[in-house]
Amino acid sequence: MDAPITDYRPRGLTPQQVLEHFSAPGPTPDDCWTWSGPVNRYARTVYGVVTIDHVPWNAHRLAWVLAHGEPPPGVEVMHECDNGTCINLRHLRLGSHQQNMQDAVDRDRIAYGERQGAAVLDDGLVLQMRQWHREGMSYTDIARTVGVSINAARFAVIGTTWKHLPLEAS
Ligand SMILES: [Zn+2]
Repeated sequence: MDAPITDYRPRGLTPQQVLEHFSAPGPTPDDCWTWSGPVNRYARTVYGVVTIDHVPWNAHRLAWVLAHGEPPPGVEVMHECDNGTCINLRHLRLGSHQQNMQDAVDRDRIAYGERQGAAVLDDGLVLQMRQWHREGMSYTDIARTVGVSINAARFAVIGTTWKHLPLEAS
């Protein structure tokens, strides 16, 4: 993060309590869940920020990590709703910011996601999807989470596509 951050250090609250303290759920579970705490006003897209044990977090990333764990390296938590201050998990998904377009050139990627106008996968994300599948997540949920079609998710998980990646965790 290169932009200045509005620092805030919550005292005596767990990260989950911080999220609850600073967010206002919309009228329905599908509405944006707007962050009311400090924001990074200098970013191109304004988003919620908070400091946990001296570590600055984007609020939506913190929400994702508390619910799903750390994304793989290079994978970012993105908004489907284009509302940077939203922390509704239903509006967040994983995606690679820089890699996905460039890597496509070099690899034997079959661009199901691209053809269908959906998100683009990359190595880290495919490995994460295979991990989720081992943990019992359905193809439908995996597809929804990463923003590709159910077939694209299934093919990536079972190895029809992305053959160069291991099927099992190393
Ligand atoms: Zn939203």
